Amino acid sequence: MSDKLHIILTGEQDSTRTFALPKSVLKTSLLVSFVVIVLLLISSIAGINFARENSGMESSLTRISGELAASKLWNAEFKERLTREVSARESRLQNRLTRLIKQNDAKEVMLNKAMAGLKSRSKTIDSILRAVGVKIKVKSNAKNSGGPFIPLVGNTYENLTFKVDSYLDALQATPLGPPVWGTITSKYGPRIDPINHKPAFHAGLDIRQKVGTHIMSTADGVVQVQGFSRFNGNYVVINHGQGFKTMYLHMEKTLVKKGQKVKRGQTIGLLGNTGRSTGAHVHYEIIYKGRTVNPLRFVRIAQYVRKRKGRS
Ligand SMILES: [Zn+2]
Repeated sequence: MSDKLHIILTGEQDSTRTFALPKSVLKTSLLVSFVVIVLLLISSIAGINFARENSGMESSLTRISGELAASKLWNAEFKERLTREVSARESRLQNRLTRLIKQNDAKEVMLNKAMAGLKSRSKTIDSILRAVGVKIKVKSNAKNSGGPFIPLVGNTYENLTFKVDSYLDALQATPLGPPVWGTITSKYGPRIDPINHKPAFHAGLDIRQKVGTHIMSTADGVVQVQGFSRFNGNYVVINHGQGFKTMYLHMEKTLVKKGQKVKRGQTIGLLGNTGRSTGAHVHYEIIYKGRTVNPLRFVRIAQYVRKRKGRS
């Protein structure tokens, strides 16, 4: 066997070429070719795998970025909803606050009106009581009772209310108006006595009217005396409190009992001519703090009040 391989190449014009290759070279070159082919095969398989993986990653990436965009969108929506909710709540609170402020203002206006009303009422009552000579001492209210005397300062609602209450208590106890509507036949003061014709002091007001006419209490109070005497005839004394007492003499008949509570305007007896009397009339007396006072002022102030209220 030869160590060489002869390769003969022939052309069309009978030209031939001959190559002589050593077998070892051929073997080596075949081996090299095989190795190269194998390497190419491996690399191409790896390339395919890589490309496959790459495309998988790409799709993952697309999915993730999609999700990310969606979440961004959701976040934005959530944020917007939250903002809307917060601003809605804010405006609701603001509205409530405005409403409360308005209500408070309305209350204040009402309170001011009420205070103005109380002031004018207390002025009216004050003027009435002044006219009949009654002085009202408005002391500190119940909160301060037992402690040192604290004068009322300022015109707070409580103070005004308390002042008006005090006035009303005084007014309730003040005898106002006549016990009977009739003719005044004898006034309060010095006079010549109609029976013995000597100078005397007449401590009350005589009002003439028919026998049996209803005699009314001129203020709220409690019956202190119900009785008969040779001088007074059938008579009643009523204690009104606040220093006031009233007496009604010469009645035909008394219609109340000692200790009985009476209201202003309530009938306490019937007009008559009993006791030291020269005709049918009621002798009406007002005692203030232990002394008789002129009842005329009290009778007239009632007429004034009645006129002011639009009655005849
Ligand atoms: Zn008299």
